[in-house]
Amino acid sequence: VRLTRADLDALPSYVPGRNPTDLARELGLPEAIKLASNEVPYGPLPGVVEAVTEAAAGVHRYPDMGVVTLRNALAERYGVDPDRVATGCGSVALAEHLARATSLPGDEVLYSWRSFEAYPIIAATSGATSVQVPNDAGHGHDLTAMAAAVTDRTRLILVCTPNNPTGTALRKAELDRFLDAVPDDVLVVIDEAYREFVTDPEVPDGLTYLDRPNVAVLRTLSKAWGLAGLRIGFLVAQPEVAAAVRKVVTPFSTSMVAQAAALAALAQADEVERRCALVVAERDRVTEALRKFVPEVPTSQANFVWLPLRDRAVAFGKACESRAVIVRPFPGDGVRVTIGTPAENDAFLAAAEAALA
Ligand code: PMP
Repeated sequence: VRLTRADLDALPSYVPGRNPTDLARELGLPEAIKLASNEVPYGPLPGVVEAVTEAAAGVHRYPDMGVVTLRNALAERYGVDPDRVATGCGSVALAEHLARATSLPGDEVLYSWRSFEAYPIIAATSGATSVQVPNDAGHGHDLTAMAAAVTDRTRLILVCTPNNPTGTALRKAELDRFLDAVPDDVLVVIDEAYREFVTDPEVPDGLTYLDRPNVAVLRTLSKAWGLAGLRIGFLVAQPEVAAAVRKVVTPFSTSMVAQAAALAALAQADEVERRCALVVAERDRVTEALRKFVPEVPTSQANFVWLPLRDRAVAFGKACESRAVIVRPFPGDGVRVTIGTPAENDAFLAAAEAALA
């Protein structure tokens, strides 16, 4: 007998970055370096561990399901009304809730490809049909082709800027034009998981588009804010959209510990800015070094870089692992490498040079 949906068999699984402890053991080394999941390498922000410890004393109770204190703090920081904010178990869960809140079987979820690997899974599990528009020659979204791919079945468009895994970010003029072209009854989600690493002044902040009725912005505390392990992201949208998401969210999925940690992290905005500046300086250094071997490396606005190695991607990933550096190959397409500490990046660059020179 078959108990689960047959269509799931064809669905690719989400692949997490490899565990560095396992690789180190395999290589007989004390440690390995993980540059595979776009985490920031500097540890939890000051005050976070204390906040987690304090919150731990109350974990026999359910958390605040309305996430009121944290939603208020987010609303204040980003200058929006708390009604427009919803939190979730990572922004990936919020993207899934948005698909569930907008799309029925037969509806279309549109996004650029290659982009965040969770998008096809999210579209499929909501029962909707994925419509993938190939990236342009510069490895970014082709917004003209995406606008042309909208049909009367399109319910949700996922725009990823900066784009995971290529690092490319959309400019204001092209995003304006795209949003003007999309019908008002299609929700456009601007996924800005990497917004804090953007340095190009031409790249607009998605939150500046919230006066448009059909735009929603996704952010996460996993990357720049250093809370990947606690699973917390947030959505800012029209109040009706945020309310619909809060309705479909799994009850209590923003844990008490995550809420406390997020509040402590938000109090450290200056430190976040300082850490992001270190990451950005390293990103630019690593990009320049890689372009000696792969001139096509796109300019990244995120905390990772993309090597469009195509059929050499898997071999490059293996070569890095043999030197105790875990990167993220996408077979046949390219390799994404997270920016780590300067020493970690040097270890990666040495491995890359050995593999590519
Ligand atoms: N969006 C993008 C573009 C991402 O790269 C990621 C993380 N890989 C997420 C969303 C989800 O992050 P999280 O669930 O940790 O908030």
